[in-house]
Amino acid sequence: KSVAEKFSVIFNLACPASPPHYQKDPVYTWETSVLGIRNMLQLAELQGARLLHASTSEIYGDPHVHPQGESYWGNVNTVGVRSCYDEGKRAAETLCADYTRFKGVDARLFRIFNTYGEFMHPDDGRVISNFCVAAAKGTPVPIYGDGSQTRSFCYASDLIAGILALARLPRERYDGPINLGNPGEFTIRELVTVLERITGKKLSTQNHPLPLDDPKMRRPIIERAERILGWQPKVQLEEGLRRTYDYFAAEIGSLA
Ligand code: UDP
Repeated sequence: KSVAEKFSVIFNLACPASPPHYQKDPVYTWETSVLGIRNMLQLAELQGARLLHASTSEIYGDPHVHPQGESYWGNVNTVGVRSCYDEGKRAAETLCADYTRFKGVDARLFRIFNTYGEFMHPDDGRVISNFCVAAAKGTPVPIYGDGSQTRSFCYASDLIAGILALARLPRERYDGPINLGNPGEFTIRELVTVLERITGKKLSTQNHPLPLDDPKMRRPIIERAERILGWQPKVQLEEGLRRTYDYFAAEIGSLA
């Protein structure tokens, strides 16, 4: 399908990122990741546009190397329930790299690590929104597995600043995928403690089975983003989570 408008920069951010959502229709998720970026790369080639593509920490899978730098190739189950997303995003990186090598397209990859903030959907299904919604409703906070697994949470405005810095980077300075995340690493149980400090309440918890192939740990090395983009996250978890919780509390309060 042809596009009449002219673009100088394309941001390809279109894909569900929450495990329950992307696993609901895995074929569609894979197609969105792989065929979607193929379409965008063709458009970028046609128009000579710069293309910014949202990749993910999930390309590292359940990592054997910790923390994760961009040179780590990852540990992904190719036939697991997460692979529609993980392998879709990995194939998308391959397409971007090959369109750059073979067709000269200015395609740039950034790998997003667990980003959150206000305006997330209450049914998003990821941990920060699930925890905020449960705390605001006064229902038990759902912990999957024993809660010892870790994640590193990046506040949305920090991510956006990183993406824009990458979009503005002179072409010759782009040298491969860039991690964008906050290196502060927390177990899921620690996340409950932070939320208790924010709400001033003792939160009840409920244990649920650990989802299949759930990564045990995740933390970005961001030395590359610091060096190439002059970027660092500014909003630490307690502050970002407070804003996010306040948002959900107001939303849920207005429905009550
Ligand atoms: N998780 C949890 N309770 C929830 C949702 C998620 O304990 O209500 C856990 C999940 O098992 C994982 C971590 O929190 O270990 C982050 O999950 P999320 O779905 O937010 O993102 P991802 O697994 O894609 O990093």
